Amino acid sequence: MSKNRLNATLTHRIDVSPEHIVLRIVPTGWDLPSFTPGQFAVLGLPPEAPRLQGADDDIDSTATGKLIKRAYSITSSSVPKEYVEFYVALVLSGALTPRLFELEVGDKLWMSPKFTGMFTLDQVAPDKNVVFAATGTGIAPYMSMLRTHLEAGHARKFAVLHGALHSWDLGYRDELALFDQKYANFSYVPIVSEPGYELDEWRGPTGFLQDYWVTRPFDVIWGSTPEPKNTHVFLCGNPLMIQNMQRVLEEEGFKEHTKKRPGQIHMEKYW
Ligand SMILES: Cc1cc2nc3c(=O)[nH]c(=O)nc-3n(C[C@H](O)[C@H](O)[C@H](O)COP(=O)(O)OP(=O)(O)OC[C@H]3O[C@@H](n4cnc5c(N)ncnc54)[C@H](O)[C@@H]3O)c2cc1C
Repeated sequence: MSKNRLNATLTHRIDVSPEHIVLRIVPTGWDLPSFTPGQFAVLGLPPEAPRLQGADDDIDSTATGKLIKRAYSITSSSVPKEYVEFYVALVLSGALTPRLFELEVGDKLWMSPKFTGMFTLDQVAPDKNVVFAATGTGIAPYMSMLRTHLEAGHARKFAVLHGALHSWDLGYRDELALFDQKYANFSYVPIVSEPGYELDEWRGPTGFLQDYWVTRPFDVIWGSTPEPKNTHVFLCGNPLMIQNMQRVLEEEGFKEHTKKRPGQIHMEKYW
């Protein structure tokens, strides 16, 4: 069997906004591998797959003739299901996403037979609290972790700080708000950076994640300020947000986690 055969099928698609879609994908004729929440799969399409109307031309991929492959964090729970879910942002100049946005339910694509990645809760002791900070589709790996671990009844505190330009770009907002009501150990803070465009007045926090963090919101949310001795912070999405959050966290004594030097800041840069 060719390793580039289109080996998976799109079974479900939700258009969250014109620039964001949720895709559920099932393997065709093979079993989904087990994975740890926070890991990613690689999705691929051939260059001849149609591109979304209005996207930029992509002469380079067409010339190679090779499958176009990119990494996507899994959003679904790791409790075995027949599908895996992804949350994808459109990049008009990109090679793959304008093609993914043209997929319809029933269409075939390529999915890596193994899922991988180190951006998981495996390195965090069970007694530590966890703050998940994301911009845009950076929420994806946290959805898998929360869908898996909140249901399983972890005792630690979890919080999500999710930043986006507009409220309609805050994917999974309803589900996260529901988790906030359902689980005493979970808090959800959506943050909008351009509130002037909202149709209804935005009553939540505004601006950038790092500016919100330095207002010490956890004094109210948790009743105490997160400290390196009791909290790990995960950062995912836009590299600029990650850089800015890393700076403010390091000023408070948090350290980047690496294999050799355990720390409390865990990062997944999407580009
Ligand atoms: C471990 C990992 C997990 C990832 N998980 C996700 C995910 O869950 N959802 C997702 O949408 N993307 C995710 N990405 C990014 C994804 O792999 C692609 O880079 C992205 O979809 C763009 O692909 P493209 O071929 O359309 O653009 P390319 O031709 O590869 O162009 C890349 C450019 O697109 C921009 N870009 C890349 N990702 C994004 C994004 N998410 N939002 C806005 N602009 C972007 C950057 O400017 C980047 O330089 C992940 C990346 C990594 C490394």
